[in-house]
Amino acid sequence: RALAKHYPVPKRRLLEKRSVLRAVDGISFRIGEGEIFGLVGESGCGKSTTGQMLVQLVKQTAGELLYRGFPVGGRTGKELKRLRQDIQIVFQDPYSSLNPKKTIGWTLEEPLVVHGIGDKPERRRLVAETLEQVGLDPGFANRYPHELSGGQKQRVGIAAALILAPKFIVIDEAVSALDVSVQSQILNLLKELQRKRGLTYLFISHDLNVVEYISDRVGVMYLGKMVEIFTVGETGGQPLHPYTRALFSSVPDVAARRERVALQGEVPSPIHPPSGCAFHPRCPLATELCRTEAPELKAVGPGHEVSCHNYEEANVTR
Ligand code: SF4
Ligand code: MG
Repeated sequence: RALAKHYPVPKRRLLEKRSVLRAVDGISFRIGEGEIFGLVGESGCGKSTTGQMLVQLVKQTAGELLYRGFPVGGRTGKELKRLRQDIQIVFQDPYSSLNPKKTIGWTLEEPLVVHGIGDKPERRRLVAETLEQVGLDPGFANRYPHELSGGQKQRVGIAAALILAPKFIVIDEAVSALDVSVQSQILNLLKELQRKRGLTYLFISHDLNVVEYISDRVGVMYLGKMVEIFTVGETGGQPLHPYTRALFSSVPDVAARRERVALQGEVPSPIHPPSGCAFHPRCPLATELCRTEAPELKAVGPGHEVSCHNYEEANVTR
């Protein structure tokens, strides 16, 4: 609820006014249990920061984070430990998240040791079982990261997130660094694991095809704000926000289904975002009101929220 992350920007001159970078600027959304919620937007829009706040790697400047209806902050002892087990993250770069000097088995066993789960034989059994679940032979436990391909490393990254039997996983650009053929294998693995284990994902990616393929609902971010949330697939409505429409129409695979809207200009700086609706300098539907008043994110249909003064026009012109 109204989640924000602001960073102070160092002054370049003595008398300069202190400014802030609004990485995430007050976003509210809900992810249902067992749901895959995709988060898209151009680089620097605040998707990763949002994911990192959800797993508490980054502390929010403002707003409230609720997990199963209860505030995430202020937990201690057993409750905090439980939360750390329940919520995991898979990073983009499987290379940097693995310790090159340690075997895969060690990497996977360590969180179990930290959380005091099982004795040695039990932990070994869990490691072997988890490796199998991500499609790797249990013998991989004896290997080192440099002996693995990119896809195998990302499978290990997923195994590391799964080992504590979490409920909710943030997946941040997890397939972006992989070859296209490997990407689809990893995506299908993530889908299968989600189904089998009843997991909930926040799936972050700049790749719209990937997000549309895997998600139940998609949130679109622009300059730290959530501009649209919509349901994917036959039951879902078409996106209505001019930014979402421009973003999706630039993707070759889905372009055939949607009218092309060219996205003009560059993303402005999150230190000095435009007044009113931050998208107005690039928006084909901008009016005078857009320059002065920021639109609120509001429900426009079942599972569909849009933040735009003129979204109805977007609907008509389609
Ligand atoms: Fe465009 Fe105005 Fe809608 Fe912003 S509020 S997206 S500028 S039409
Ligand atoms: Mg990122």
